[in-house]
Amino acid sequence: MERTFLAIKPDGVQRGLVGEIIKRYESKGFTLVGMKFMKVSRELAESHYDVHKERPFFAGLVDFITSGPVVAMVWEGEGVVAAARKIIGATNPLTAEPGTIRGDFGVDIGRNIIHGSDAVETGQKEVSLWFSNDELVSWQPQNMPWLYEKT
Ligand code: GDP
Ligand code: MG
Repeated sequence: MERTFLAIKPDGVQRGLVGEIIKRYESKGFTLVGMKFMKVSRELAESHYDVHKERPFFAGLVDFITSGPVVAMVWEGEGVVAAARKIIGATNPLTAEPGTIRGDFGVDIGRNIIHGSDAVETGQKEVSLWFSNDELVSWQPQNMPWLYEKT
């Protein structure tokens, strides 16, 4: 089953949005398979955002993501990578659609609350960057037949 990496950034934690955000993925019908509350090291932040290392906002982004605790999560489900990004909304919260996490809770691109993997392959890379295998729990929720016609 497909997996994605999501992280509630320091602004989402400081603003008390952890429960609200988790609720959206839980209610949708995705399965939580890993979660930890942690301070991010500069080393981890820099490798996570390695694709952006030449961008002008990179230093600020690394400072921001290491500035306070984050909630790192792995969620599983059919098409979860793309669906989780839809639930997150556009990168700039000001133009993100209402109903999305960024659209509902943010105003500034440098404070956009949550990260989500942008493709299946990126998801696999990010899950293994942030989590060891023994931190992930494979399990089958009892409600699967009520979420999927074919299980
Ligand atoms: P995402 O996949 O929607 O999170 O967006 P990107 O992968 O393009 O950028 C990664 C993160 O860098 C974003 O979530 C923002 O936190 C930050 N970021 C992207 N573009 C900008 C920008 O123009 N200014 C600032 N300050 N931060 C940015
Ligand atoms: Mg991205």
